[in-house]
Amino acid sequence: MKIDRKRLEHSIEELGRIGATERGGLTRLALSDEDKRGRDLLVRWMREAGLRVTVDQMGNIFGERPGEPGRPALMMGSHADSVPTGGKYDGQLGVLCALETIRTLNDHRVRTRHPVTLVVFTNEEGARFQPAMIASGVMAGKIALEDAYNARDKDGLRLVDELERIGYLGAEPCVPRPLRAYLELHIEQGPFLEEEGLAIGVVEGIVAISWSRLTIHGVQDHAGPTPMRIRHDALVAAADVVSGVRTIAREIGGELVTTVGNLTVSPNIVNAIPGKVTLSIDMRDPQDATLDRALPRLDRVVREACEREGVRYELEHYWRVPRTPFDREVVAAIERAARATGAGYRRILSGAGHDAQYMAAIGPTGMVFVPSRDGRSHCEEEFTPMDDIEHGANTLLGAALELAGAL
Ligand SMILES: [Zn+2]
Repeated sequence: MKIDRKRLEHSIEELGRIGATERGGLTRLALSDEDKRGRDLLVRWMREAGLRVTVDQMGNIFGERPGEPGRPALMMGSHADSVPTGGKYDGQLGVLCALETIRTLNDHRVRTRHPVTLVVFTNEEGARFQPAMIASGVMAGKIALEDAYNARDKDGLRLVDELERIGYLGAEPCVPRPLRAYLELHIEQGPFLEEEGLAIGVVEGIVAISWSRLTIHGVQDHAGPTPMRIRHDALVAAADVVSGVRTIAREIGGELVTTVGNLTVSPNIVNAIPGKVTLSIDMRDPQDATLDRALPRLDRVVREACEREGVRYELEHYWRVPRTPFDREVVAAIERAARATGAGYRRILSGAGHDAQYMAAIGPTGMVFVPSRDGRSHCEEEFTPMDDIEHGANTLLGAALELAGAL
């Protein structure tokens, strides 16, 4: 049994037109008008595939294909929102490959022991409402529904009001539900599969992540009359921290990645010495123990940089997620399905967070990766060759057939 490549390709093109950018990308922010149109199309396709469609309190969409009564569902899906000027593959591909899997079960009139449910998660990206993965987070009980409802976008609009406005504020409770397993196909968003000429990544889990926030208090002063010897420049200390954060990764080595991605300078004008800088530090590694070693080094980098410049600071390690291992049985089922496609595959860890991370707290979870050209994502150049998508979708189909128990 194989998926229908032409039908899948056509669906990718059709959904990709909603919110399409001129340069071949996608802007479909969560709960925007474009998101509504994308959701409406997906709901239409789900109904055409004979699925029973429901929407929960967080606007997550479910389409159920029945199995034997009383059995927990095999759930598959991803998200349909994008970042601004993002790509047509992140999220969308997981939803459409899951839909294609169900359409293929229908084509072959396959009955399964467990129900098979397609899920479309709300606001995975965190581009419009923070935090990211907010709806799977609520479902897993890790984020309070009320906090999620009160999340505001940059214009001050509340998530719950936007859900209602686009007609996707559902009645079903957003709570953990019994799961046979959760499967998510996603683009790799890194370079490894393409570099190694492989079509499929069998994802074993998600790396450990730590986020820190640093505020540096210098002395704001005039850029002209203030001699260099009496300056306390918050941005000079911050610059030392930025290069120091990279040095931590170089010295510890292995797979540790460290990033300063956000920096705010105050007053940020041409003729004033910066009085205050805030910046973020993101560190990730497959092993929790590596982050345990990296964090004290970060403390030292910051202390030394600020001492050199004679500035005060506050450093806060405010978010830490341990490595999320996926379920061994599910990973093994995905690996068998990958092997059966005849395409090249390897086991891999995800460096990015996904809804699967929260779903792993609810039930047995696994992911399928397909390559990203040049390792790129969250940009209009995001691309995955159709050959690889076909192998990935067939892997999802194979794993679904095994886990749902084809009759
Ligand atoms: Zn995604």
